[in-house]
Amino acid sequence: MKEKIEKLKKQLIDALKTAKSDEIVRNLEVDFLGRKGKFNDIMKSLKDMSDDMKKTVGRLANEVKTELEVAVQKKYAQLEAEELGQIADTEWLDVTVPGIRPIVGHRHLISKFIDDIELIFGKMGFSVADGPDIETEHYCFNQLNIPPDHPARDMQDTFWVKNLDKTVLRTQTSPVQVRFMEAHEPPVRIISLGKTFRKDNDATHSPMFHQCEGLMVGENVSMANLKAILTHFMQQVFEDSSIKTRFRISFFPFVEPGLEVDCTCPICHGEGKIENVPCKLCKQTGWLEIGGAGMVHPKVLENVGYDSKKYTGFAFGMGLDRMVMIKYRINHLRLFFENDLRFIEQF
Ligand SMILES: [Zn+2]
Repeated sequence: MKEKIEKLKKQLIDALKTAKSDEIVRNLEVDFLGRKGKFNDIMKSLKDMSDDMKKTVGRLANEVKTELEVAVQKKYAQLEAEELGQIADTEWLDVTVPGIRPIVGHRHLISKFIDDIELIFGKMGFSVADGPDIETEHYCFNQLNIPPDHPARDMQDTFWVKNLDKTVLRTQTSPVQVRFMEAHEPPVRIISLGKTFRKDNDATHSPMFHQCEGLMVGENVSMANLKAILTHFMQQVFEDSSIKTRFRISFFPFVEPGLEVDCTCPICHGEGKIENVPCKLCKQTGWLEIGGAGMVHPKVLENVGYDSKKYTGFAFGMGLDRMVMIKYRINHLRLFFENDLRFIEQF
């Protein structure tokens, strides 16, 4: 009987050594130590033995059973530790492994272009002035010498703000110039860039678009200064030192005289054709309309309290989106605002 007990013990110990899962250990536990297990069979057979044998074998059987129960519990603990170890292995963080680079966006082409313009004018001593997108009729029209019957004030051109008397989405960035002059004495040298709004919508017009305006007021500021500064600006922004500018006489209520500004076409360099192929951008003229300008109307200077006998100044305004379209050969204005990644990621 003792041999039988020792044999069972060896069997279980050996089986535990190779057991790889909780389930196997549990089956062994039931098979050997359970109520209907092999050890209980031995215990049951004790009743047929002599008292002496009962005592000796019984004690041995109990000792071995306890020993085996401890061995089983140890095995459970060992398996659990191994499992935790494996989890730790898979969750191991190796800080030297190269990271996964996140997709980082970049600034919009218009925003980058605004930065470029600010830098070019900054180098010529111009600072950047800013103002509200929602503007009063006073600043948007009255102070700029735009008469009450001027078509710019028409319901068809301007977004008037509902429930707010005499308030519009600014149709130009010029109100910024007025606000700046009211708050500062000459000399003034500023540019203002930003969103403007008009009821227009086609391939080259959008209800929201961007303008770049400039203003220089001081003693002896002349049209020669205007020409020099705009020519330098065009050459810088289109990265082409051969660019020339020309003025054509025009009319804007806030300047006198008023001018249309053209520059030579940066695509065909003013030739109207590229290797005998007609240039589509400038329609073979070699010139592009780029904006309006002029000497600030004395009335506008007086409106802000400047002495129009002492001070003169020039102002200019350009469609920023159009310049970006020319520079980067973009054929549709809507591409700027559609947020199509196939377009945006090209720049
Ligand atoms: Zn051209």
